[in-house]
Amino acid sequence: QDPGNVPIVQKWIDKWFWRGYRLLTLVAMMQDYMLPKRVMSWKEAWEMYAEANGGALFKDLARYGIREPAGWKQACEGKDHISHQAWNTFYNYNAAAPFHTWVPSDEEMDWLSQKYPESFDKYHRPRLEYFREQQQAGNRFYNKTLPMLCTTCQIPMLFTEEGDPTKICYRESDYFGNKYHFCSDHCKHIFDDEPEKYVQSWLPVHQIYQGHCFPEGTDPTAEGFDPLLAVLKYYEMDVGRDNFDFEGSEDQKNFAAWKGESVEKGEAK
Ligand SMILES: [Zn+2]
Repeated sequence: QDPGNVPIVQKWIDKWFWRGYRLLTLVAMMQDYMLPKRVMSWKEAWEMYAEANGGALFKDLARYGIREPAGWKQACEGKDHISHQAWNTFYNYNAAAPFHTWVPSDEEMDWLSQKYPESFDKYHRPRLEYFREQQQAGNRFYNKTLPMLCTTCQIPMLFTEEGDPTKICYRESDYFGNKYHFCSDHCKHIFDDEPEKYVQSWLPVHQIYQGHCFPEGTDPTAEGFDPLLAVLKYYEMDVGRDNFDFEGSEDQKNFAAWKGESVEKGEAK
C-alpha cells in the first residue's frame, strides 16, 4: 500500500458517506412515518447497520490509516431527529410533494415515543399535535412557497445544528460573486472543494423561482395566474390526487378497500 493513497481514499469516503447519508434522510422518513407496518425505526436501523456494522468496518480499516468518515458523529446524533424533521417539512410543503402526508395517529405517535425516548416527546410530538389541533379546527396550514435547497445535497434546509435540534443549520459560500447555501458544514466543505461541479446543479426550487418550470405557452402576466398550479402542471402532477393530505384522498380509499376496511374505519385517527 502506498501511504500517499490514504488521504485520497479518505477524502472519497468522507464525501460519499455524507452525500449518501443526506439522501438517506428520505428513507428515514419513510421508515418512521410512511410504512403501514413498521419494521424498525430509523434510529434502530442506524444503530445496527451504521454504528455496529459500519463501526466494525472502520475499526478494521484503521490498520490502513483509514478513519471513520467526516460527519460520522453528526450523523449519529442525527439519528434522533432527521426522520421527524423531514416529515415536518413535507407535511408543510405537501402541495409541492408528489405524495400524501398526514399527522400520525395516536398509536403511531406512541410507537415513535417508544422508539425515540430521547427526542420524540420533547421535540417532535408537540409539533405534530399542534398540527392536528390546527387541522381539526379547520386551519390546516399549507406553505405555498418552496423550501430553500442545499446546493450540495439538494435536500431542503431542514437539518439542525449539532447539539441544538431547535436551530436550523445554515451555511453559505461565495463563488465568483454568487452566493450558495448549505445545510451543514459537510455539504459546504464538499462544495468548497469542487465548486465548479456544484454550481452547475439544476436545483428545482431555484429553477422554479427563475420561471423555468412553467408549461410551454404560459403567460405569467395573465390575470389570475397561479404560479404554484402552473409549476405543478409542468411537473405533470395531478393536483389533489397526487399531493395534499392522505385523509380524504383516493389513496386512502384504495388502501382501505385493499385491507377490507371501510374508509370510515381507515379514517379513525
Ligand atoms: Zn446539504
